[in-house]
Amino acid sequence: MVSRNEEKLNSLIKSYLKKYDCCISGRSQDLWCIKQSPLGGFGIFATQDIEPGELIFLDHPVLLGPRYLNDLPDNCTTCYCKVNIKKCNNCGLLVCESCSISENHLKECNLLQKLKNGHDLLEKNRQLTKCLTPLRSLLLDKEDLKVVASLKSHKGSQHGYEVHTLTEDLKLQFSSEEKEFLYFVCTVLDANAYEVSIESCDSNRGLYPLGSLSNHRCFPNVFHVFDEKHRMVVRASVFIPKNTELFNSYTILLWGTITRITHLKNTKHFICKCDRCKDPSEFGTYLSSVKCKKCPGNLLPINPLQNSNWQCDTCTSVEPLKEVYRTLSLVGSVLRGFNNEFELIHRFLTKKLITLVPDSNQVAVELKKKIIWILGYEQGYLLHELPLELLLLKRQFCKDILDILIKLKRGKCKLRGLLCYELYLCTEELKLRQNFDQCDSKIFEDDSKANLLEAIDILKYDSSVSDSLRQKINENQ
Ligand SMILES: [Zn+2]
Ligand SMILES: [Zn+2]
Ligand SMILES: [Zn+2]
Ligand SMILES: [Zn+2]
Repeated sequence: MVSRNEEKLNSLIKSYLKKYDCCISGRSQDLWCIKQSPLGGFGIFATQDIEPGELIFLDHPVLLGPRYLNDLPDNCTTCYCKVNIKKCNNCGLLVCESCSISENHLKECNLLQKLKNGHDLLEKNRQLTKCLTPLRSLLLDKEDLKVVASLKSHKGSQHGYEVHTLTEDLKLQFSSEEKEFLYFVCTVLDANAYEVSIESCDSNRGLYPLGSLSNHRCFPNVFHVFDEKHRMVVRASVFIPKNTELFNSYTILLWGTITRITHLKNTKHFICKCDRCKDPSEFGTYLSSVKCKKCPGNLLPINPLQNSNWQCDTCTSVEPLKEVYRTLSLVGSVLRGFNNEFELIHRFLTKKLITLVPDSNQVAVELKKKIIWILGYEQGYLLHELPLELLLLKRQFCKDILDILIKLKRGKCKLRGLLCYELYLCTEELKLRQNFDQCDSKIFEDDSKANLLEAIDILKYDSSVSDSLRQKINENQ
C-alpha cells in the first residue's frame, strides 16, 4: 500500500528527475519507488528483481558546491576546472575565463551584489566560497525549492554554521525569511549531502534528492559514482530481490564498528543496528579487533552494540574495554602521522602494527591502501621501476582488501573497481618480466582480463577515473 504522502513524494521526485534528464532510456517502468521504511521515515525500494550492476536510477544535484572547508583547493566555483582561474572583480569568487561571463556565475554575482550591501567581499572570498552551497539555494526555482523542502533535516547547534559565517563574518544582509530558510538548507545539507569528486577533487558536496532518501546500512546493496554531468549514477552491488529496501552507506565501508558507530552518532544522529554492527567479527573480517596479549588469538567485543568487555576468540580470556580502546586509539593516531612515505609505512605495518592488531584491522587496511597507491604512482616507485617483491606486495594487498570486500557482502562498488584495475596493472607488468610456461600464462591471462573487465564495468560512468582507465573504458565500448 502506498499512502497519500508517499504518492506525493514519488511524483515530486519523479517529475524533478524528468526535468533534469535523469530518466533511464529503454525502460518502461522505474526499478524503484519511495515507501515508508521499517527503519522509520522514507526509504527506496526495488519494484522488481534487480541484477548486480544494473542501473537503478540517475539523480541530479539540486544543490552542488564546495564543502565547508578551510583549505579548499583553487577551482572555478562554477565549472570546478583549474584552468585560467581568477578572482571575479565584483564578487571575489574564483572563476575560470569562460565561466566569468556565464549565466550561472552572473546570477550568483548579482545575488552577491545585492546581499553584500556595500561591504567588500574580495578579501574574504575563501570564507564566501565555503558557504556557497547553501547560498545557492536562494537562486532555486519554485519546483526545486519544493524538492529541498521535502527532505529531512537535522536539528542541533552544530548545524547551520554557514549562516553565522555569512552574516557575522561576511556581513551579508538577508531578510529574516531568507536567513531562516538558509539555516534550514544547512541542516538539510548536513543530513543528506554526498561528497562529490569532480576533477579528482573531493572537496565538493551535492544534495541529491532521490539519493538522499536511501537509508544507511553498513553493508549496502547499491553503489554510486558521479558522471561528467555531476549526476549520481546508482547501481546494484548485488542481486536485489523485488520489494527489498535499497541501502547506501553513510560511512567509510572499511572502518570498524566502533569508528562507524561514533561517526554515525556524531554526524547523522542515529545508532546503526544492522547485522554487521551486531556481529563481533563483522562478518569474519576482524576490521576492528586487536590481538590477544596471552595467545595468538584476536579479541572481539562480547556485545558490539554495548560498551561490553572484549574476549579472545581462542583462549577466551577477557580484556576490559578501556584497554582495547587504548590500543585502538594508539594505532589510529599513528595513522594520521604518515604521508606518502613507503618505507616508513611498510616498516610500521610489518614490524609494529601486526604485533598489536590482526592484519585485517581497519588501520592495517588503511595503510595497505596507501601502499597500493604509492607503488606504481609516486616518484621512484613507478610500476616499471618496482622490484619484483614490491610488485608482488602491491598485488597481495589488492587481493587482501578485495577479500575483505567479499566478506562484507559488498559486491560491486567503486573501491572494488579501482582495486581490480590495480590488480590488472600489476599482472600486466608481471607478464612483461617473467617467462611462464603455457599453462600458467593462460591462467594469468584470464585473471588479468577478468579484472580489467570488472574495473571497466564498475567505473564506466565515473567521471573521476584516471586517464589510462578512461582510455580502456572507451576502447571497450
Ligand atoms: Zn569555470
Ligand atoms: Zn562575480
Ligand atoms: Zn551497521
Ligand atoms: Zn587469547
